[in-house]
Amino acid sequence: MFGYIFINGRLIIENKAKIHVRDRGFLYGDGLFETLRSYKGFIFMLDAHLQRLFHSLKVLKYNIYFDKEYIEDAVNKTVKKNNLSAGDTYIKIIVTRGIHRGELHFDKYYKPNLIIIADSLAPYPEDDYTKGINIISSSIIRQAIGSPIYSHKLLNYFENIFAKDEAHYNGAQEAIFLTRDHLVLEGASSNIFYIKRNMLYTPPLTQNILPGITREVVIDICNENRIKVRQKKIHYRDIIEADEVFKTSSVAGIVPVRKIDRFIITREIPGKITARLMKLYLSRVEL
Ligand code: PLP
Repeated sequence: MFGYIFINGRLIIENKAKIHVRDRGFLYGDGLFETLRSYKGFIFMLDAHLQRLFHSLKVLKYNIYFDKEYIEDAVNKTVKKNNLSAGDTYIKIIVTRGIHRGELHFDKYYKPNLIIIADSLAPYPEDDYTKGINIISSSIIRQAIGSPIYSHKLLNYFENIFAKDEAHYNGAQEAIFLTRDHLVLEGASSNIFYIKRNMLYTPPLTQNILPGITREVVIDICNENRIKVRQKKIHYRDIIEADEVFKTSSVAGIVPVRKIDRFIITREIPGKITARLMKLYLSRVEL
């Protein structure tokens, strides 16, 4: 059975939903996206996702003709049209720069395409949360500063899917990007935290990483519950010697890590603090 896709103001049955082949998202990955989810119909952190999207649209000079309220309404309509208002839903918002006009620079005449996809969310394996996941270091070495690519959620996602494939090939669920100096940046589709002596650490946003919404929620939960958290440069050594490690993302939430490359982090999964954070996180999504 086909669902309905929102394209530029219209809800179109999936097998008829089309985008122009000269769209710059298709040609160059010149577009942005947000992936988020609902919990039993409650769309979690939609406003924060839209804020991140609109910040990137502005910084990257997209000619926007819609506002946050318009997208919020479109998301709700798409979820409703697909009969997903009561379940756990995977939602993807995509904005491309529009149809290519021949010049590569950001022409002020481009008209972005807005696409929204909503699907019922297939649950992650329970074992990920109770036994922890394995992560590997990607072979892709990234810079810690000086690129516009990583702080925006760009359609140009090739490094991420390449790293995910490396993880899959090696029997792991996530890959992390390191710098040449072995600093830990982020996962292919997640942010990374580690815990040492009851203190949480995560890399700062100055390090070419995505300002993850879930990362922010976790920091907020820590501040609210007097759990100590610090944003600082993290070395590979820090995470393999950590008491606990977890990754965060909007779709999966907080996921404990059992093993990094060949190093077992902990056999107690989830660790004490990770378990507490997972509980506090779940209490936020169950409104
Ligand atoms: N970092 C990268 C590279 C990602 O692609 C993602 C999400 O897909 C994240 C971090 C986590 O971000 P969020 O918590 O906003 O889902």
